[in-house]
Amino acid sequence: MGDRPVDPRRRIPRTDVLLADPRLTAAVATLGVARVKALVAAVQDRARRGEIRPEDVPDEAAARVAAGAGGPRPVVNATGVLLHTNLGRAALSGAAVDALCAAAGHTDVELDLTTGRRARRGRGALAALAAAVPDAAAVHVVNNGAAALALAATGLAAGRQIVVSRGELVEIGDGFRLPDLLVSTGARLREVGTTNRTTLADYAAALGPDTGFVLKVHPSNFVVRGFTSAVPVRELATLGVPVVADIGSGLLAPDDLLPDEPDAASTLRAGAALVTASGDKLLGGPQAGLLLGDADLVDRLRRHPLARALRVDKLTLAALEATLSGPPTPTWRALHTAPEELRERADRLAAALAAAGVKAEAAPAAAVVGGGGAPEVELPSWAVRLPERYAVPLRLGDPPVVGRVERGHLLLDLRCVPAERDGTVRDAVLRLRRDG
Ligand SMILES: *Cc1c(COP(=O)(O)O)cnc(C)c1O
Repeated sequence: MGDRPVDPRRRIPRTDVLLADPRLTAAVATLGVARVKALVAAVQDRARRGEIRPEDVPDEAAARVAAGAGGPRPVVNATGVLLHTNLGRAALSGAAVDALCAAAGHTDVELDLTTGRRARRGRGALAALAAAVPDAAAVHVVNNGAAALALAATGLAAGRQIVVSRGELVEIGDGFRLPDLLVSTGARLREVGTTNRTTLADYAAALGPDTGFVLKVHPSNFVVRGFTSAVPVRELATLGVPVVADIGSGLLAPDDLLPDEPDAASTLRAGAALVTASGDKLLGGPQAGLLLGDADLVDRLRRHPLARALRVDKLTLAALEATLSGPPTPTWRALHTAPEELRERADRLAAALAAAGVKAEAAPAAAVVGGGGAPEVELPSWAVRLPERYAVPLRLGDPPVVGRVERGHLLLDLRCVPAERDGTVRDAVLRLRRDG
């Protein structure tokens, strides 16, 4: 009885011992102690679960911290831009993060466990997408929105013509121009109409045996006003050739808050043969390109040799499925949080900071969708307003808090900050106060 084996968990090195490891010194300086502790804790957890041996914990922790030092760092998005491309666009839901972690090992991504045979890759995600948009006869998922469009252009119009309005030859951002992408596939652009006005007759006059499809692009990051006209999908669908609609920001169904933002279901119902969209914009999921529509067209694209080069990995498929079938995403919540709730949070946060001697006050603000969606839509929001000199140290803090500078002040807009992170924001500011 006396010789009970030592519980292996008791042999797991303690955090203070690990932090004293000289291999972690530099990382603590760059990452901050909180982040290094979190990385170390994850390794200790793996040892507790028996996934690694307790004696391997120091080496494993050093490796994890070394890897973490260069990797993308989690930041608090207090910019008031829901889908900030520089901040990784949509933040995944807890359900999507769990699914992604669960899929990190071996999974049945392409195996039917009941028969032991090969199965359609990512069928769970595809089924969830099809269920979310019943108007789509078939669906496919590729690496991002640009890949979806490139696949459509290659598969349906290489060596042929894509008919598109001059008002829809857009640049998305960072020098990415849609017409350049389309031409790179070997398709030819047949531009019709003018920058401000294009009519159905312009399209009709351009059609011929060489037409691959008519393309409708949502000019997602600008609006044209004044003497304008554009042809809706409903009318383009009468032309007798397939209409491919690049809706951009990726709503699957209409959202009352964004009445001018196109959605996949309505666009298909209006007669589009194929809709392409991004998974990490308003859908609030992982980076992905969605193709929805006519069964024959989608099937042709799915079987095209290029499809293999644009294939999504198991992590994306897992996160996409969980996004589609799970609870509301952080993006949806950020969009739909009532301004009064944001005001209360801003009041509370500003009061806590002011009590500690920080020159902080709650201030109304205007958030935006961003990421090429709903240009000109201002989402009424509330921010904590600080002197501008807080901007840089907060951005360099741990975790970095990224706000927006407006007229000599730093605004920490709470619309994209999950309520449970308010304490993180408060502590980040207070830490600076303490440090002088
Ligand atoms: C964002 C966007 C794209 C590109 O999608 P990615 O997922 O960023 O590749 C294409 N078209 C439109 C209209 C967009 O808004």
